[in-house]
Amino acid sequence: MKVTHLGSGSRGNSVLLSTGESNVLVDCGFSLKKTESRLDKLSVNPTDIDSIIVTHHHSDHSKSAKRAAKRWGARLISNAETAKRMQWEDWEDLLVFSELERIDAGVDISLLTIPVPHDDADNVAVIACDDKGRRAAIVTDLGEVTAELSSHLRKCDHISIESNYDHDRLMRGNYPDALKRRISGRGGHLSNSQTALALSKIVHPKLSSIVLCHLSESNNLPHIAESEVLMEICDDFNGSLSISKQDGPEFSNWIGQIDSEKISA
Ligand SMILES: [Zn+2]
Ligand SMILES: [Zn+2]
Repeated sequence: MKVTHLGSGSRGNSVLLSTGESNVLVDCGFSLKKTESRLDKLSVNPTDIDSIIVTHHHSDHSKSAKRAAKRWGARLISNAETAKRMQWEDWEDLLVFSELERIDAGVDISLLTIPVPHDDADNVAVIACDDKGRRAAIVTDLGEVTAELSSHLRKCDHISIESNYDHDRLMRGNYPDALKRRISGRGGHLSNSQTALALSKIVHPKLSSIVLCHLSESNNLPHIAESEVLMEICDDFNGSLSISKQDGPEFSNWIGQIDSEKISA
């Protein structure tokens, strides 16, 4: 299984999971046109997308999901709260999952969802498993890495996890105080240091690649996020660490392989 971020940040998120047999999108937060042009860069025909799972209703994750599913003949997957907030409930092609239920998203890709704390949304982290039992995690929009999530991440070969903001930059910046409190609270986003600390307790010998994603363009910089995480994990981690930016796709990670594969422009 190969993991490719089509792009990641507050202006849109979407991750392609692909094997020779299946193509699954985790989130569809770009416009339909942008999503199709980014899939085209990967030589993936949109009609070959089997399923689109939407982690929560915020528009940077859900924007064109239903229109894309309709147009491409893909199955749309969400939990009940997200379906309600998106007004998808009456759509017959929607697959509604419950907590910790295994979802068959393609012939050889199954998904497990783990609830995570995020304000005003029933958000989930997604663990994807291929037919060889290799696992990739996609984790964004959470204020805290729970013990339950950590225990699942310790079994993953690849982890894409948000590293949203640098704490000092957020606090010194010009966001209103209420927004600063919301972002840094239990229902907000993970800071670089929270992500670094969580990863230091998760890193294990089979973990071959980490992608830091959903970086704030106002309150973070890629090199700050990267160095903060590396500082915490470098003694125990032998894999690769990459950053997914807002405008992708730039690279893919084959699960179980350390080096990422560059995507030519
Ligand atoms: Zn988001
Ligand atoms: Zn969100």
